[in-house]
Amino acid sequence: MQCQEHSAVTKEAPSLVVPARNCSVRRTVEIVLDSWSFLILREAFFGVKRFDGFQSRLAIPRQTLSNRLANLLDHNILSAGNRPNEPYKQYFLTPRGRDLFPTMLSFMEFGDKWLAGDEPPPLQLIHTTCGRKCRPVTVCSECLDPVDAREVRHRDGPGAGYSPLKVRSSTRRISDVSLLQSVRPCSVARSLALVGDRWSFLILREGWFGVRRFEEMRENLGIATNILADRLNRLVEAGIFDRVPYSSGGDRLEYRFTEMGLDLYKPQLAMMAWGDRWMSNDQPPLRLRHRKCDQDFKAVVICSECKTPIHAVKTDYELTYTLED
Ligand SMILES: [Zn+2]
Ligand SMILES: [Zn+2]
Repeated sequence: MQCQEHSAVTKEAPSLVVPARNCSVRRTVEIVLDSWSFLILREAFFGVKRFDGFQSRLAIPRQTLSNRLANLLDHNILSAGNRPNEPYKQYFLTPRGRDLFPTMLSFMEFGDKWLAGDEPPPLQLIHTTCGRKCRPVTVCSECLDPVDAREVRHRDGPGAGYSPLKVRSSTRRISDVSLLQSVRPCSVARSLALVGDRWSFLILREGWFGVRRFEEMRENLGIATNILADRLNRLVEAGIFDRVPYSSGGDRLEYRFTEMGLDLYKPQLAMMAWGDRWMSNDQPPLRLRHRKCDQDFKAVVICSECKTPIHAVKTDYELTYTLED
């Protein structure tokens, strides 16, 4: 399986520039959709601070870890330093890094619902604000109702437009995620395995913009036909898209989100909210409107029990499995 993954990568051009919609999610994704980076962040949320800690938890090659940490430092997601009486350099989440917690929780919400099978969710969250075991719920910031993709409308914001996007196929990491699953079961990793390569992510995004047809996706993304076909096949197999006849009739097929695919919009919105807060210079490219309450909104992730937003520092967890080490 992993060999196949790698051969799929090498067949692709090493780098290409395609026009892409301006979107805070894209900017966020450039940083966190790299699965290793996301998993490093996850460990940081779990309190890991030292290089060796990340290394042993994730079984990640040292050079890879060192590159990813450098990248997270560059993007001001982590900071590094020595605490008094601590001989080792430690890594700390910056405020901007800590604010990625809701995005991680939103991926967890999705993974727990759709990808945990008959197993209990791998991680039981405890919200220390209310002291209860809870689930993360992605909701509308205005009416606090859970977000349903069908209830969301978007329009261009002040930062809208298209700009070139460099897609590096070398950042494909699906096989790494399946590897990591064996180290630490994780709904986030399971979810990222679905969207954890940029092409799949960009295809999903076109879907959320209402694009359903192969040709239109190909034109919008400047993606090679065989790669698009391959990714669409994977997304259909994963249960994200259904392939259905054109609504206008005929025997051609278009791609529509399944219920599960629609649900993947929530972590997307959580990422977008983060990108708007930290990377848009107050010029959000998109405005979202919640049809249910008829207000502009952002996605927030709240505690299922007390309905207040969940922050990293107010959360504890119990593992429902044991670590091998
Ligand atoms: Zn609402
Ligand atoms: Zn709570």
